[in-house]
Amino acid sequence: MPPKYSFIVPIYNEEETIEEMYRRISQVMDQMDGSVELCLVNDGSRDRSLKMMRELHHQDSRIVYLSLARNFGHQIAVTAGLNFVRGQVVVILDADLQDPPELIMEMVEQWRQGYHIVYAQRIKRRQEGWFKRFTAYAFYRILKQLADVDIPTDTGDFCLLDRQVVDVLNAMPERNRYIRGLRSWVGFKQTAVRFERDPRFAGDVKYTFRKSFALAINGIVSFSKVPLRLSTYLGLLAAIVSLFMCLLVLYWRIFTPSSPLTGIAIILIAIFFLGAVQLVSIGILGEYIGRIYEEVKQRPLYTLSEVSGFEQQYPDVQQ
Ligand code: UDP
Ligand code: MG
Repeated sequence: MPPKYSFIVPIYNEEETIEEMYRRISQVMDQMDGSVELCLVNDGSRDRSLKMMRELHHQDSRIVYLSLARNFGHQIAVTAGLNFVRGQVVVILDADLQDPPELIMEMVEQWRQGYHIVYAQRIKRRQEGWFKRFTAYAFYRILKQLADVDIPTDTGDFCLLDRQVVDVLNAMPERNRYIRGLRSWVGFKQTAVRFERDPRFAGDVKYTFRKSFALAINGIVSFSKVPLRLSTYLGLLAAIVSLFMCLLVLYWRIFTPSSPLTGIAIILIAIFFLGAVQLVSIGILGEYIGRIYEEVKQRPLYTLSEVSGFEQQYPDVQQ
């Protein structure tokens, strides 16, 4: 019999948080009204995380785990979890306890009311630096403006998904997994529960600025074609500006013929301006072409080095 609930927790170098995470989550697991599996996904950790996961698995049979063969990134780790878990209701949450497990009860309540997707919406971020708060704030608003689907602001990956939704997500072939975007894209009945995001329990942030930036670009490029149109606009703008410059040069020729320097300056400005417009446009094209390239390669999304606890359902997987 598959469990009723599955919790997915991606783990990347979280040795300092795992024990506390297990303690808090298992309290919630004990309160659930059906069987629960806790699926830990090791995303190529280099510390003792995997060892601790193995120990937990031996200690508590409700814990199952996957180990990716290297660091594939948070979104892929969650995707791997979604591929394997068997529950009727699936909850995704972070290992660092920034997503309070206690909120799961509230989410399940909404699920009982008939919602297929319940996402957690942050009303406040406690003790995160101003830079992170500001960039996150700006990003979610820009994304909302640009995206083809309505992606709610200030929602992370912390959410509850019904089995029906998980099956749809698993059937999606795309390689660029921006889960909060895909989650909005699929539709179904969705609702939010609000919460205040706690500070990280321990350890450093695993999302470096580079990873967050890549995720942000991914989100925008995967769900919007507006940047492509932007290069057309930039081209138009360049045309208008150069027309204006022509008129200016003509004016100088006629009325102030003795200032050759301004002429050179204007040529330089025009060259730089056009250069910038072209580079930006090529960059935008590159982002989309890069994604097409990723998709056509058809590589698997991840490689697994270890799978434990899924025996009954996946007899073919190497244990
Ligand atoms: N994580 C992961 N792979 C990565 C980076 C992060 O699996 O390459 C996991 C990490 O262990 C944590 C979650 O993703 O469970 C969120 O990471 P973090 O707390 O660093 O990000 P933030 O809270 O800033 O979104
Ligand atoms: Mg965190």
